[in-house]
Amino acid sequence: MGNTLIVDGQYNIGHICTRQQCEAGRAGRIAMRWVTPAMERRDYTFADLEAGSNRFANVLAGLGLGRGDIFFTFLPRMPEQFLAFLGALKLQLICGTLFSNFGEEALLDRVGDAGARVIITKKGFLKKLVAIRHRLPRLQYILLVDAPEHLAADILSYPRLMADASADFTVPPTASETPSVLHYTSGSTGKPKGVLHAHRSVLVQNATAADILDLRPDDIFWCTADQGWVTGTSYGIIGPWSLGVTQVHFGGGYSPELWFRLLQEERINVWYSAPTALRMLMREPTEFYATFDLSALRHICSVGEPLNPEVVHWARRILGKEVYDTWFQTETGAIMIANRPGLQVRPGSMGRPVAGIEPAILADDGTAMAAGESGNLCLKEEWPSMFVTYLNNASAYASKFRDGWYYTGDTAWRDGDGYYWFQGRSDDVINTAGHLISPFEIESALIEVPEVAEAGVIGAPDDLLFEKVVAFVSLHRPYEFTPELELKIRLHVTNKLSSVATPHQVVPLETIPKNKSGKIMRRLLKARYLGTDAGDLSTLED
Ligand code: AMP
Repeated sequence: MGNTLIVDGQYNIGHICTRQQCEAGRAGRIAMRWVTPAMERRDYTFADLEAGSNRFANVLAGLGLGRGDIFFTFLPRMPEQFLAFLGALKLQLICGTLFSNFGEEALLDRVGDAGARVIITKKGFLKKLVAIRHRLPRLQYILLVDAPEHLAADILSYPRLMADASADFTVPPTASETPSVLHYTSGSTGKPKGVLHAHRSVLVQNATAADILDLRPDDIFWCTADQGWVTGTSYGIIGPWSLGVTQVHFGGGYSPELWFRLLQEERINVWYSAPTALRMLMREPTEFYATFDLSALRHICSVGEPLNPEVVHWARRILGKEVYDTWFQTETGAIMIANRPGLQVRPGSMGRPVAGIEPAILADDGTAMAAGESGNLCLKEEWPSMFVTYLNNASAYASKFRDGWYYTGDTAWRDGDGYYWFQGRSDDVINTAGHLISPFEIESALIEVPEVAEAGVIGAPDDLLFEKVVAFVSLHRPYEFTPELELKIRLHVTNKLSSVATPHQVVPLETIPKNKSGKIMRRLLKARYLGTDAGDLSTLED
Protein backbone atom coordinates (compact mmCIF):
# COMPACT_ATOMS: atom_id res chain seq x y z
CA MET A 1 0.00 0.00 0.00
CA GLY A 2 2.85 2.37 0.97
CA ASN A 3 4.51 2.15 -2.46
CA THR A 4 1.58 3.60 -4.41
CA LEU A 5 0.54 5.97 -1.65
CA ILE A 6 3.85 7.77 -1.35
CA VAL A 7 4.81 9.35 -4.66
CA ASP A 8 8.31 10.85 -5.06
CA GLY A 9 8.87 10.70 -1.30
CA GLN A 10 5.98 13.10 -0.61
CA TYR A 11 4.50 12.09 2.76
CA ASN A 12 2.45 15.22 3.29
CA ILE A 13 -0.96 14.15 4.60
CA GLY A 14 -2.65 17.34 3.37
CA HIS A 15 -1.29 16.74 -0.11
CA ILE A 16 -2.14 13.01 -0.18
CA CYS A 17 -5.74 13.65 0.92
CA THR A 18 -6.41 16.37 -1.67
CA ARG A 19 -4.06 17.07 -4.57
CA GLN A 20 -3.03 13.45 -4.98
CA GLN A 21 -6.69 12.42 -5.17
CA CYS A 22 -7.35 15.05 -7.84
CA GLU A 23 -4.34 13.87 -9.83
CA ALA A 24 -5.66 10.32 -9.61
CA GLY A 25 -8.82 11.42 -11.43
CA ARG A 26 -11.03 12.02 -8.40
CA ALA A 27 -11.20 15.83 -8.56
CA GLY A 28 -14.95 15.76 -9.20
CA ARG A 29 -15.73 13.01 -6.73
CA ILE A 30 -17.50 14.00 -3.52
CA ALA A 31 -14.94 13.91 -0.73
CA MET A 32 -17.28 15.15 1.98
CA ARG A 33 -21.02 15.27 2.16
CA TRP A 34 -21.62 17.69 4.98
CA VAL A 35 -24.96 17.14 6.74
CA THR A 36 -26.16 19.85 9.12
CA PRO A 37 -28.07 19.05 12.32
CA ALA A 38 -31.21 20.05 10.36
CA MET A 39 -30.26 17.38 7.78
CA GLU A 40 -29.38 19.84 5.04
CA ARG A 41 -26.63 18.63 2.71
CA ARG A 42 -23.62 20.39 1.23
CA ASP A 43 -21.10 18.57 -0.94
CA TYR A 44 -17.35 19.17 -1.20
CA THR A 45 -15.45 17.48 -4.00
CA PHE A 46 -11.78 16.58 -3.74
CA ALA A 47 -11.14 19.67 -5.89
CA ASP A 48 -12.99 21.75 -3.27
CA LEU A 49 -10.90 20.23 -0.49
CA GLU A 50 -7.76 20.95 -2.48
CA ALA A 51 -8.69 24.60 -3.16
CA GLY A 52 -10.01 25.27 0.36
CA SER A 53 -7.03 23.75 2.13
CA ASN A 54 -4.66 25.60 -0.23
CA ARG A 55 -6.38 28.87 0.62
CA PHE A 56 -6.02 28.12 4.31
CA ALA A 57 -2.34 27.23 3.94
CA ASN A 58 -1.88 30.62 2.25
CA VAL A 59 -3.81 32.35 5.06
CA LEU A 60 -1.50 30.86 7.68
CA ALA A 61 1.60 31.62 5.63
CA GLY A 62 0.37 35.20 5.29
CA LEU A 63 0.19 35.45 9.08
CA GLY A 64 3.84 34.53 9.25
CA LEU A 65 3.46 30.91 10.27
CA GLY A 66 5.70 28.16 8.98
CA ARG A 67 7.05 24.67 9.45
CA GLY A 68 6.82 23.37 13.02
CA ASP A 69 4.57 26.13 14.35
CA ILE A 70 1.59 24.89 16.31
CA PHE A 71 -1.97 25.52 15.26
CA PHE A 72 -5.19 24.34 16.90
CA THR A 73 -8.76 23.90 15.76
CA PHE A 74 -11.33 24.54 18.49
CA LEU A 75 -14.55 23.97 16.62
CA PRO A 76 -17.59 21.76 16.62
CA ARG A 77 -17.78 19.44 13.66
CA MET A 78 -18.11 21.75 10.65
CA PRO A 79 -16.56 21.92 7.17
CA GLU A 80 -14.05 24.63 8.12
CA GLN A 81 -12.47 22.20 10.58
CA PHE A 82 -11.42 19.88 7.75
CA LEU A 83 -10.09 22.58 5.42
CA ALA A 84 -8.11 24.15 8.26
CA PHE A 85 -6.64 20.82 9.35
CA LEU A 86 -5.50 19.85 5.86
CA GLY A 87 -4.28 23.36 5.05
CA ALA A 88 -2.18 23.57 8.21
CA LEU A 89 -0.59 20.20 7.43
CA LYS A 90 0.18 21.32 3.89
CA LEU A 91 2.20 24.20 5.32
CA GLN A 92 3.98 21.67 7.60
CA LEU A 93 2.46 23.12 10.73
CA ILE A 94 1.68 20.85 13.66
CA CYS A 95 -2.10 20.68 13.85
CA GLY A 96 -3.91 19.99 17.13
CA THR A 97 -7.66 19.46 17.43
CA LEU A 98 -9.57 20.38 20.58
CA PHE A 99 -12.94 19.07 21.71
CA SER A 100 -15.48 21.84 21.41
CA ASN A 101 -16.82 21.25 24.92
CA PHE A 102 -13.47 22.01 26.58
CA GLY A 103 -13.55 24.56 29.40
CA GLU A 104 -10.94 27.20 30.23
CA GLU A 105 -8.60 25.00 32.26
CA ALA A 106 -8.66 22.21 29.70
CA LEU A 107 -7.85 24.72 26.96
CA LEU A 108 -5.08 26.35 28.92
CA ASP A 109 -3.41 23.01 29.66
CA ARG A 110 -3.29 22.15 25.98
CA VAL A 111 -2.91 25.42 24.07
CA GLY A 112 -0.51 26.73 26.72
CA ASP A 113 1.64 23.60 26.87
CA ALA A 114 1.92 23.44 23.11
CA GLY A 115 2.73 27.15 22.79
CA ALA A 116 0.28 27.45 19.90
CA ARG A 117 0.54 30.55 17.73
CA VAL A 118 -2.86 30.43 16.05
CA ILE A 119 -6.22 28.93 16.91
CA ILE A 120 -9.36 28.75 14.81
CA THR A 121 -12.69 28.84 16.59
CA LYS A 122 -16.16 30.41 16.45
CA LYS A 123 -17.59 33.51 18.09
CA GLY A 124 -19.53 31.51 20.68
CA PHE A 125 -16.28 30.03 22.07
CA LEU A 126 -14.29 33.26 22.04
CA LYS A 127 -15.18 34.14 25.64
CA LYS A 128 -13.36 31.07 26.98
CA LEU A 129 -10.21 31.97 25.06
CA VAL A 130 -10.32 35.65 25.96
CA ALA A 131 -10.56 34.67 29.65
CA ILE A 132 -7.23 32.79 29.47
CA ARG A 133 -5.52 34.84 26.79
CA HIS A 134 -3.20 36.62 29.26
CA ARG A 135 -1.83 33.19 30.20
CA LEU A 136 -1.11 32.28 26.58
CA PRO A 137 1.80 34.57 25.70
CA ARG A 138 2.63 32.73 22.46
CA LEU A 139 -0.87 32.87 21.03
CA GLN A 140 -0.76 35.52 18.29
CA TYR A 141 -4.00 35.13 16.38
CA ILE A 142 -7.52 33.87 16.90
CA LEU A 143 -9.43 33.18 13.67
CA LEU A 144 -13.22 33.20 13.77
CA VAL A 145 -15.14 31.10 11.26
CA ASP A 146 -18.34 33.10 11.73
CA ALA A 147 -17.09 36.70 11.85
CA PRO A 148 -17.72 38.41 8.49
CA GLU A 149 -15.06 41.05 9.28
CA HIS A 150 -11.95 41.23 11.47
CA LEU A 151 -12.76 42.08 15.11
CA ALA A 152 -9.29 43.28 16.10
CA ALA A 153 -5.74 43.20 14.81
CA ASP A 154 -5.33 39.74 16.30
CA ILE A 155 -8.91 38.43 16.18
CA LEU A 156 -9.50 37.86 12.51
CA SER A 157 -12.31 36.87 10.21
CA TYR A 158 -11.73 33.50 8.55
CA PRO A 159 -14.19 34.20 5.69
CA ARG A 160 -12.42 37.49 4.95
CA LEU A 161 -8.94 35.92 5.03
CA MET A 162 -10.08 32.98 2.89
CA ALA A 163 -11.72 35.26 0.33
CA ASP A 164 -8.46 37.16 -0.07
CA ALA A 165 -6.24 34.07 -0.26
CA SER A 166 -5.09 32.27 -3.40
CA ALA A 167 -6.35 28.75 -4.10
CA ASP A 168 -2.90 27.78 -5.38
CA PHE A 169 -0.34 26.47 -2.98
CA THR A 170 2.73 24.35 -3.58
CA VAL A 171 3.11 21.84 -0.80
CA PRO A 172 6.76 21.59 0.23
CA PRO A 173 8.33 18.14 -0.03
CA THR A 174 7.51 16.59 3.32
CA ALA A 175 9.55 13.78 4.87
CA SER A 176 8.08 10.85 6.73
CA GLU A 177 9.43 12.20 10.04
CA THR A 178 8.00 15.71 9.70
CA PRO A 179 5.70 16.34 12.72
CA SER A 180 2.01 16.49 11.85
CA VAL A 181 -0.89 15.94 14.23
CA LEU A 182 -1.12 16.68 17.95
CA HIS A 183 -3.69 15.18 20.33
CA TYR A 184 -3.64 15.59 24.08
CA THR A 185 -4.24 12.51 26.16
CA SER A 186 -4.83 12.06 29.87
CA GLY A 187 -2.72 10.11 32.32
CA SER A 188 -3.56 9.33 35.93
CA THR A 189 -1.00 11.81 37.22
CA GLY A 190 0.06 15.21 35.95
CA LYS A 191 -1.35 17.36 33.21
CA PRO A 192 -2.52 16.00 29.85
CA LYS A 193 0.30 15.01 27.52
CA GLY A 194 0.62 16.18 23.92
CA VAL A 195 0.96 13.11 21.70
CA LEU A 196 2.86 14.21 18.62
CA HIS A 197 2.63 12.30 15.36
CA ALA A 198 4.56 12.48 12.09
CA HIS A 199 3.34 12.43 8.47
CA ARG A 200 4.46 8.77 8.21
CA SER A 201 1.32 7.77 10.19
CA VAL A 202 -0.58 7.96 6.91
CA LEU A 203 0.94 4.62 5.88
CA VAL A 204 -0.89 2.70 8.60
CA GLN A 205 -4.01 4.88 8.57
CA ASN A 206 -4.32 4.23 4.84
CA ALA A 207 -3.61 0.50 5.06
CA THR A 208 -5.97 -0.12 7.99
CA ALA A 209 -8.74 2.01 6.43
CA ALA A 210 -8.54 -0.42 3.50
CA ASP A 211 -7.91 -3.71 5.29
CA ILE A 212 -9.78 -3.31 8.58
CA LEU A 213 -12.49 -0.75 7.81
CA ASP A 214 -12.74 -2.53 4.46
CA LEU A 215 -13.06 0.75 2.53
CA ARG A 216 -13.32 0.31 -1.23
CA PRO A 217 -13.02 3.04 -3.89
CA ASP A 218 -16.75 3.65 -4.38
CA ASP A 219 -17.73 3.43 -0.73
CA ILE A 220 -19.55 6.00 1.33
CA PHE A 221 -18.14 6.06 4.84
CA TRP A 222 -19.37 7.55 8.08
CA CYS A 223 -17.14 7.88 11.15
CA THR A 224 -19.12 9.27 14.09
CA ALA A 225 -16.06 10.35 16.09
CA ASP A 226 -15.42 14.00 16.87
CA GLN A 227 -12.21 15.43 15.39
CA GLY A 228 -10.99 16.19 18.92
CA TRP A 229 -10.34 12.48 19.25
CA VAL A 230 -7.66 10.51 17.42
CA THR A 231 -10.32 8.41 15.68
CA GLY A 232 -11.80 11.61 14.27
CA THR A 233 -8.53 12.56 12.58
CA SER A 234 -7.02 9.14 11.75
CA TYR A 235 -10.29 7.76 10.37
CA GLY A 236 -12.58 10.81 10.07
CA ILE A 237 -10.00 12.53 7.85
CA ILE A 238 -6.73 10.85 6.92
CA GLY A 239 -7.34 7.14 6.26
CA PRO A 240 -10.47 7.45 4.09
CA TRP A 241 -9.39 10.54 2.13
CA SER A 242 -5.97 9.02 1.47
CA LEU A 243 -7.97 6.28 -0.28
CA GLY A 244 -10.19 8.76 -2.15
CA VAL A 245 -13.31 7.55 -0.34
CA THR A 246 -16.42 9.72 0.15
CA GLN A 247 -17.12 10.58 3.77
CA VAL A 248 -20.36 11.74 5.31
CA HIS A 249 -19.85 14.14 8.20
CA PHE A 250 -22.79 14.97 10.40
CA GLY A 251 -22.91 18.16 12.47
CA GLY A 252 -25.58 16.88 14.86
CA GLY A 253 -25.20 14.83 18.02
CA TYR A 254 -26.49 11.41 18.90
CA SER A 255 -30.05 10.75 17.74
CA PRO A 256 -31.31 7.26 16.84
CA GLU A 257 -33.81 8.71 14.38
CA LEU A 258 -31.36 11.01 12.56
CA TRP A 259 -28.52 8.51 12.66
CA PHE A 260 -30.60 5.80 11.05
CA ARG A 261 -32.02 8.23 8.53
CA LEU A 262 -28.44 9.09 7.61
CA LEU A 263 -27.45 5.46 7.22
CA GLN A 264 -30.46 4.89 5.00
CA GLU A 265 -30.64 8.12 2.97
CA GLU A 266 -26.90 8.47 2.37
CA ARG A 267 -26.61 4.78 1.51
CA ILE A 268 -23.66 4.44 3.86
CA ASN A 269 -21.57 1.34 3.19
CA VAL A 270 -19.15 1.44 6.10
CA TRP A 271 -19.93 2.83 9.53
CA TYR A 272 -17.38 3.39 12.33
CA SER A 273 -18.80 4.14 15.74
CA ALA A 274 -18.34 3.43 19.45
CA PRO A 275 -19.77 1.04 22.02
CA THR A 276 -21.60 3.71 24.05
CA ALA A 277 -23.52 4.83 20.96
CA LEU A 278 -24.30 1.23 20.03
CA ARG A 279 -25.47 0.49 23.58
CA MET A 280 -27.71 3.55 23.41
CA LEU A 281 -29.16 2.29 20.13
CA MET A 282 -29.86 -1.06 21.77
CA ARG A 283 -32.43 0.69 23.94
CA GLU A 284 -34.68 1.43 20.96
CA PRO A 285 -37.56 -0.98 20.39
CA THR A 286 -37.03 -3.63 17.72
CA GLU A 287 -39.84 -2.14 15.58
CA PHE A 288 -37.83 1.06 15.26
CA TYR A 289 -35.21 -0.73 13.18
CA ALA A 290 -37.71 -2.45 10.92
CA THR A 291 -38.64 0.92 9.39
CA PHE A 292 -35.17 1.57 7.94
CA ASP A 293 -33.58 0.20 4.80
CA LEU A 294 -29.95 -0.57 5.61
CA SER A 295 -29.31 -2.60 2.48
CA ALA A 296 -26.29 -0.43 1.55
CA LEU A 297 -24.58 -0.99 4.91
CA ARG A 298 -21.89 -3.63 4.49
CA HIS A 299 -19.50 -3.19 7.39
CA ILE A 300 -19.76 -1.83 10.96
CA CYS A 301 -16.73 -1.19 13.17
CA SER A 302 -16.40 -0.02 16.74
CA VAL A 303 -13.60 1.56 18.77
CA GLY A 304 -12.78 3.32 22.00
CA GLU A 305 -14.10 1.07 24.75
CA PRO A 306 -14.70 -2.59 25.28
CA LEU A 307 -17.42 -3.83 22.95
CA ASN A 308 -19.64 -6.09 25.03
CA PRO A 309 -20.68 -9.40 23.47
CA GLU A 310 -24.33 -8.31 24.01
CA VAL A 311 -23.85 -5.54 21.43
CA VAL A 312 -22.41 -7.99 18.90
CA HIS A 313 -25.33 -10.39 19.45
CA TRP A 314 -27.86 -7.53 19.28
CA ALA A 315 -26.47 -6.30 15.94
CA ARG A 316 -26.54 -9.81 14.51
CA ARG A 317 -30.15 -10.25 15.62
CA ILE A 318 -31.61 -6.81 14.90
CA LEU A 319 -29.47 -5.41 12.07
CA GLY A 320 -28.38 -8.73 10.61
CA LYS A 321 -24.79 -7.40 10.69
CA GLU A 322 -21.52 -8.15 12.40
CA VAL A 323 -19.85 -5.45 14.52
CA TYR A 324 -16.07 -5.53 14.20
CA ASP A 325 -14.24 -4.26 17.26
CA THR A 326 -10.96 -2.40 16.72
CA TRP A 327 -8.37 -1.34 19.30
CA PHE A 328 -5.96 1.54 19.22
CA GLN A 329 -5.02 4.62 21.19
CA THR A 330 -3.83 8.16 20.62
CA GLU A 331 -0.20 7.08 20.84
CA THR A 332 -0.53 4.29 18.27
CA GLY A 333 -2.04 6.64 15.67
CA ALA A 334 -3.87 3.85 13.90
CA ILE A 335 -5.68 0.57 14.54
CA MET A 336 -3.32 -2.07 15.94
CA ILE A 337 -5.59 -4.97 16.89
CA ALA A 338 -8.89 -5.68 15.18
CA ASN A 339 -11.57 -7.94 13.93
CA ARG A 340 -12.02 -7.82 10.19
CA PRO A 341 -13.73 -9.50 7.29
CA GLY A 342 -12.42 -13.02 6.83
CA LEU A 343 -11.60 -13.41 10.52
CA GLN A 344 -14.26 -15.00 12.64
CA VAL A 345 -15.50 -12.58 15.31
CA ARG A 346 -15.26 -13.86 18.87
CA PRO A 347 -17.72 -11.61 20.70
CA GLY A 348 -15.88 -9.77 23.48
CA SER A 349 -12.47 -10.01 21.82
CA MET A 350 -10.71 -7.07 20.16
CA GLY A 351 -9.50 -9.41 17.43
CA ARG A 352 -5.99 -10.06 16.15
CA PRO A 353 -3.02 -7.79 15.35
CA VAL A 354 -3.07 -5.91 12.06
CA ALA A 355 -0.37 -6.67 9.48
CA GLY A 356 3.10 -5.65 10.62
CA ILE A 357 2.12 -5.14 14.27
CA GLU A 358 3.52 -7.36 16.99
CA PRO A 359 1.76 -7.15 20.34
CA ALA A 360 2.67 -9.12 23.46
CA ILE A 361 1.32 -9.63 26.93
CA LEU A 362 4.12 -8.92 29.38
CA ALA A 363 4.40 -9.07 33.16
CA ASP A 364 5.58 -5.96 35.01
CA ASP A 365 9.12 -7.36 34.96
CA GLY A 366 8.97 -7.81 31.18
CA THR A 367 8.52 -11.59 31.05
CA ALA A 368 6.11 -12.85 28.43
CA MET A 369 2.83 -14.25 29.74
CA ALA A 370 1.45 -17.49 28.39
CA ALA A 371 -1.82 -17.67 26.46
CA GLY A 372 -4.75 -17.16 28.83
CA GLU A 373 -2.73 -15.15 31.36
CA SER A 374 -3.37 -11.47 31.73
CA GLY A 375 -0.71 -8.76 31.83
CA ASN A 376 0.41 -5.52 30.21
CA LEU A 377 -0.60 -5.10 26.60
CA CYS A 378 2.62 -4.08 24.81
CA LEU A 379 3.60 -3.37 21.22
CA LYS A 380 6.98 -4.08 19.66
CA GLU A 381 8.81 -0.89 18.58
CA GLU A 382 8.34 0.55 16.12
CA TRP A 383 5.43 0.88 13.76
CA PRO A 384 5.02 3.66 11.16
CA SER A 385 2.18 5.43 12.96
CA MET A 386 3.97 5.37 16.32
CA PHE A 387 3.94 8.74 18.05
CA VAL A 388 7.11 10.81 17.93
CA THR A 389 7.10 11.99 21.53
CA TYR A 390 5.00 13.58 24.24
CA LEU A 391 5.51 17.27 23.56
CA ASN A 392 7.76 18.91 26.20
CA ASN A 393 7.78 15.68 28.18
CA ALA A 394 10.55 13.40 26.96
CA SER A 395 10.75 11.59 30.29
CA ALA A 396 7.08 10.53 30.15
CA TYR A 397 7.72 9.31 26.60
CA ALA A 398 10.79 7.31 27.67
CA SER A 399 8.87 5.79 30.57
CA LYS A 400 6.47 4.11 28.14
CA PHE A 401 9.23 2.00 26.53
CA ARG A 402 11.25 -0.87 27.97
CA ASP A 403 13.49 -3.37 26.17
CA GLY A 404 12.05 -2.50 22.78
CA TRP A 405 8.43 -2.71 23.91
CA TYR A 406 5.86 0.08 24.20
CA TYR A 407 3.62 -0.33 27.27
CA THR A 408 0.13 0.77 26.28
CA GLY A 409 -1.26 1.20 29.80
CA ASP A 410 -3.94 -1.41 29.07
CA THR A 411 -4.10 -4.91 30.48
CA ALA A 412 -5.28 -7.77 28.31
CA TRP A 413 -4.84 -11.48 27.60
CA ARG A 414 -4.40 -13.50 24.44
CA ASP A 415 -6.15 -16.76 23.71
CA GLY A 416 -4.56 -19.81 22.09
CA ASP A 417 -5.57 -18.59 18.61
CA GLY A 418 -3.97 -15.17 18.94
CA TYR A 419 -7.13 -13.16 19.69
CA TYR A 420 -6.68 -10.37 22.23
CA TRP A 421 -9.16 -9.74 25.06
CA PHE A 422 -9.25 -6.36 26.82
CA GLN A 423 -9.17 -6.44 30.62
CA GLY A 424 -8.76 -2.87 31.84
CA ARG A 425 -6.26 -0.10 32.44
CA SER A 426 -3.11 -0.60 34.46
CA ASP A 427 -3.46 2.97 35.74
CA ASP A 428 -6.33 5.03 37.17
CA VAL A 429 -7.34 6.66 33.90
CA ILE A 430 -11.11 6.67 33.44
CA ASN A 431 -12.71 5.69 30.14
CA THR A 432 -16.16 7.23 29.94
CA ALA A 433 -17.96 6.79 26.62
CA GLY A 434 -14.58 6.40 24.94
CA HIS A 435 -13.08 9.56 26.44
CA LEU A 436 -9.98 9.00 28.52
CA ILE A 437 -10.25 11.25 31.55
CA SER A 438 -7.60 11.92 34.15
CA PRO A 439 -8.79 11.65 37.77
CA PHE A 440 -5.95 14.02 38.63
CA GLU A 441 -7.33 16.77 36.40
CA ILE A 442 -10.79 16.45 37.93
CA GLU A 443 -9.37 16.38 41.47
CA SER A 444 -7.41 19.56 40.71
CA ALA A 445 -10.58 21.26 39.48
CA LEU A 446 -12.59 20.08 42.49
CA ILE A 447 -10.27 21.56 45.07
CA GLU A 448 -10.66 24.95 43.41
CA VAL A 449 -14.22 25.02 44.76
CA PRO A 450 -13.83 27.03 48.01
CA GLU A 451 -15.86 24.59 50.12
CA VAL A 452 -13.84 21.56 49.02
CA ALA A 453 -10.79 20.61 51.09
CA GLU A 454 -9.74 17.38 49.38
CA ALA A 455 -10.98 15.28 46.50
CA GLY A 456 -10.50 11.81 45.05
CA VAL A 457 -11.95 10.67 41.74
CA ILE A 458 -12.60 7.19 40.36
CA GLY A 459 -14.25 5.56 37.36
CA ALA A 460 -17.10 3.26 38.42
CA PRO A 461 -18.62 0.64 36.11
CA ASP A 462 -21.60 1.89 34.11
CA ASP A 463 -23.91 -0.11 31.85
CA LEU A 464 -24.07 2.59 29.21
CA LEU A 465 -20.85 4.61 29.42
CA PHE A 466 -18.53 1.73 30.37
CA GLU A 467 -17.31 3.90 33.25
CA LYS A 468 -18.80 6.92 34.98
CA VAL A 469 -16.96 9.59 36.93
CA VAL A 470 -17.54 9.47 40.69
CA ALA A 471 -15.99 12.14 42.92
CA PHE A 472 -15.37 11.95 46.66
CA VAL A 473 -14.92 15.23 48.49
CA SER A 474 -14.16 16.29 52.03
CA LEU A 475 -15.26 19.81 52.95
CA HIS A 476 -13.68 22.62 54.89
CA ARG A 477 -15.44 23.32 58.17
CA PRO A 478 -18.12 24.50 58.71
CA TYR A 479 -19.52 23.73 55.25
CA GLU A 480 -22.21 21.12 54.86
CA PHE A 481 -22.83 18.96 51.82
CA THR A 482 -26.11 20.03 50.20
CA PRO A 483 -27.72 19.39 46.78
CA GLU A 484 -26.88 23.03 45.89
CA LEU A 485 -23.22 22.45 46.71
CA GLU A 486 -23.20 19.25 44.68
CA LEU A 487 -24.59 21.17 41.69
CA LYS A 488 -22.01 23.92 42.17
CA ILE A 489 -19.20 21.35 42.25
CA ARG A 490 -20.44 19.60 39.11
CA LEU A 491 -20.89 22.88 37.23
CA HIS A 492 -17.41 23.97 38.17
CA VAL A 493 -15.93 20.85 36.55
CA THR A 494 -18.08 21.34 33.45
CA ASN A 495 -16.89 24.92 33.05
CA LYS A 496 -13.25 24.25 33.86
CA LEU A 497 -12.77 20.96 32.04
CA SER A 498 -15.67 19.61 30.02
CA SER A 499 -19.07 17.98 30.24
CA VAL A 500 -17.58 14.50 29.86
CA ALA A 501 -15.36 15.05 32.92
CA THR A 502 -18.30 16.14 35.10
CA PRO A 503 -18.88 13.73 38.00
CA HIS A 504 -22.09 11.74 37.79
CA GLN A 505 -22.05 11.49 41.51
CA VAL A 506 -20.37 13.49 44.27
CA VAL A 507 -19.94 11.61 47.54
CA PRO A 508 -19.06 13.51 50.74
CA LEU A 509 -16.44 11.92 53.02
CA GLU A 510 -14.90 13.03 56.33
CA THR A 511 -11.41 12.55 54.88
CA ILE A 512 -9.98 11.31 51.59
CA PRO A 513 -7.78 8.23 52.17
CA LYS A 514 -4.13 8.90 51.32
CA ASN A 515 -0.87 7.04 51.77
CA LYS A 516 2.03 8.40 53.77
CA SER A 517 3.42 10.32 50.84
CA GLY A 518 0.06 11.99 50.31
CA LYS A 519 -1.05 10.00 47.26
CA ILE A 520 -4.81 9.61 47.00
CA MET A 521 -5.73 5.95 47.42
CA ARG A 522 -8.15 5.72 44.52
CA ARG A 523 -8.13 1.94 44.62
CA LEU A 524 -9.46 2.05 48.17
CA LEU A 525 -12.11 4.61 47.23
CA LYS A 526 -13.20 2.39 44.37
CA ALA A 527 -13.34 -0.73 46.51
CA ARG A 528 -15.41 1.06 49.14
CA TYR A 529 -17.75 2.43 46.50
CA LEU A 530 -18.23 -1.00 44.94
CA GLY A 531 -18.31 -2.81 48.27
CA THR A 532 -15.40 -5.04 47.23
CA ASP A 533 -12.04 -5.95 48.73
CA ALA A 534 -9.35 -3.35 47.97
CA GLY A 535 -6.72 -6.10 47.73
CA ASP A 536 -3.13 -5.57 48.80
CA LEU A 537 -2.74 -1.94 49.83
CA SER A 538 0.74 -2.32 51.27
CA THR A 539 2.37 -0.68 48.25
CA LEU A 540 0.16 2.33 48.72
CA GLU A 541 1.03 2.77 52.38
CA ASP A 542 4.70 3.77 52.05
P1 AMP B 1 -7.51 7.23 23.37
O1 AMP B 1 -6.03 7.36 23.43
O2 AMP B 1 -8.24 8.37 23.97
O3 AMP B 1 -7.98 6.91 21.99
O4 AMP B 1 -7.89 5.97 24.26
C1 AMP B 1 -7.28 4.74 24.08
C2 AMP B 1 -7.73 3.77 25.13
O5 AMP B 1 -9.13 3.48 24.96
C3 AMP B 1 -7.04 2.43 25.05
O6 AMP B 1 -5.78 2.45 25.68
C4 AMP B 1 -8.06 1.55 25.76
O7 AMP B 1 -7.95 1.68 27.15
C5 AMP B 1 -9.38 2.13 25.27
N1 AMP B 1 -9.82 1.42 24.06
C6 AMP B 1 -9.72 1.80 22.77
N2 AMP B 1 -10.26 0.88 21.95
C7 AMP B 1 -10.69 -0.13 22.73
C8 AMP B 1 -11.32 -1.39 22.48
N3 AMP B 1 -11.64 -1.78 21.26
N4 AMP B 1 -11.60 -2.18 23.54
C9 AMP B 1 -11.28 -1.78 24.80
N5 AMP B 1 -10.70 -0.61 25.10
C10 AMP B 1 -10.40 0.21 24.09
